[in-house]
Amino acid sequence: MRYKGRRSSSNVEDRRGMSRGKLAVGGGIGGAIMIVLYLLLGGDPSAVIDQAGQDQNSASGTYEPTAEEQELYELVTVTLADTEDVWQEIFRERGSTYEEPNMVVFTDAVQSACGTAESATGPFYCPADRKIYIDLSFYNQLRQLEAPGDFAMAYVVAHEVGHHVQNLLGISEQVQSQRRSLSEQEYNQLSVRLELQADYFAGLWAHHAQDKFNILQEGDIEEALNAANAIGDDRLQRRSQGYVVPDAFTHGTSAQRVRWFRKGFESGKLEEGDTFNTTNL
Ligand SMILES: [Zn+2]
Repeated sequence: MRYKGRRSSSNVEDRRGMSRGKLAVGGGIGGAIMIVLYLLLGGDPSAVIDQAGQDQNSASGTYEPTAEEQELYELVTVTLADTEDVWQEIFRERGSTYEEPNMVVFTDAVQSACGTAESATGPFYCPADRKIYIDLSFYNQLRQLEAPGDFAMAYVVAHEVGHHVQNLLGISEQVQSQRRSLSEQEYNQLSVRLELQADYFAGLWAHHAQDKFNILQEGDIEEALNAANAIGDDRLQRRSQGYVVPDAFTHGTSAQRVRWFRKGFESGKLEEGDTFNTTNL
């Protein structure tokens, strides 16, 4: 992927190097309790808030990434910027405004409005705070799954942005609201459709980013398809359990993920990504 020297998104929170201990001191519940106590004692809250802010800054300021990590950082922040440009235009054409998500880059563990997550969780999107969370070491996991390459990582970012788009369009909420009236199996099937649509949106992003910025290099699409293939539920389950349990699928099979990414890439049209009203997943 061509990303060198291109615009990076400014919607990025660099929380690398903040260990769990610092998370508790710097912000979150610890910080909130400190502020409440201070107010009860009649103090000036800004003194405490500044203190908390400084702890956070010094924590990330001391983090020294390797050259490879810094490359990946550039890759994901440029990819995020590309998704902003592409989705802004698509939303504008539909007469609405794209509200850009933030991306939190972390190491080891992170606190989100959806709870605390560890790197092993993999990249995720939290609808409650509209942020994408990613630990760059996920790149090594992709490599271990035999899905290496910069565009594999870009696809993962674009997939998470896809979940943000679903949130903005009210699709995630519709799925959530049906949760109570469905059996676990039925709900799983619905969330597979949600995941496959995020893959479609990732493909759609690649289509438009190529149009706008000519980002693709030889082998890039294969890298994304390969990643979609490697992180399908059937593959992941086979790796972890040695057999496949279709009812527990929440992301779709490898073949389905590849198919919907490719479909989005070839079509480039939002309307053709309705994974909920198709019998042909
Ligand atoms: Zn997903």
